[in-house]
Amino acid sequence: AADALTRAQSLEQIGTKVAHELKNPLTGVKALVQLGLRNPAEAASRDRLEIVDREVTRMQEILQNYLSFTRPLQEVTPRRVELGRLVSDTLEVLSARADGARVRLYTQGEAAIDADPRRLKEALLNLVANAIEATPPGGEVDVEVRPAGGDAEIVIRDTGRGMTAETLRRIGTPFFTTRDDGTGLGVVLARSVIAQHGGSLRYESELGQGTRVRVALPRVAKGGRDGPCARRR
Ligand code: ADP
Repeated sequence: AADALTRAQSLEQIGTKVAHELKNPLTGVKALVQLGLRNPAEAASRDRLEIVDREVTRMQEILQNYLSFTRPLQEVTPRRVELGRLVSDTLEVLSARADGARVRLYTQGEAAIDADPRRLKEALLNLVANAIEATPPGGEVDVEVRPAGGDAEIVIRDTGRGMTAETLRRIGTPFFTTRDDGTGLGVVLARSVIAQHGGSLRYESELGQGTRVRVALPRVAKGGRDGPCARRR
């Protein structure tokens, strides 16, 4: 269901939602700045500055995710990518976060395909970050790379809280989030990048047990007839 929904979302619709999502944090920041102009001593409190910082970070995340899924795959040349290496690099970036959450990260396997490594890494970063976020202290996230008859599969498995049927149904819909500080764009971005490679993204989850994300990628990026960006061409 999420597949169809994402494809059905035109870039314009997502743009309208992005504008809408930015409105609240912008209004909040503006109100605090105006208060500061009237009464500098009161507004400069640590609490208020933390709110401004948090809201600005949120706006940055929304924009960053939005911008990265509006960039079509054609703008970059796919090249040979060792997926095992790409996954290790991705886990490296997230290692501090995993340590902080006391979640152990593992990886195994190797497969090589033609892909856009930078965009694929963006997609994986979002998926693995979600897995870490969903996993309680002492748990683990395991990322396996396997060849699949010339194509490749990346399986991200976590021992986290899992998803309700409702979340499983809505995941990947723009701005769907169950987190207070979530943007609800991470999976949209990942799905879009994977679709642009001609691949697919599938979730399996059991509440309280964990989640498994299967990313299937063709041997050669097909340059995506799929995903929100394709509509513009
Ligand atoms: P965000 O992380 O900003 O909430 P995402 O699109 O990345 O946005 O994820 C949407 C929602 O999907 C999350 O809020 C969470 O509820 C759920 N989700 C994603 N990955 C997992 C996972 N591995 N385990 C449990 N829930 C998940």
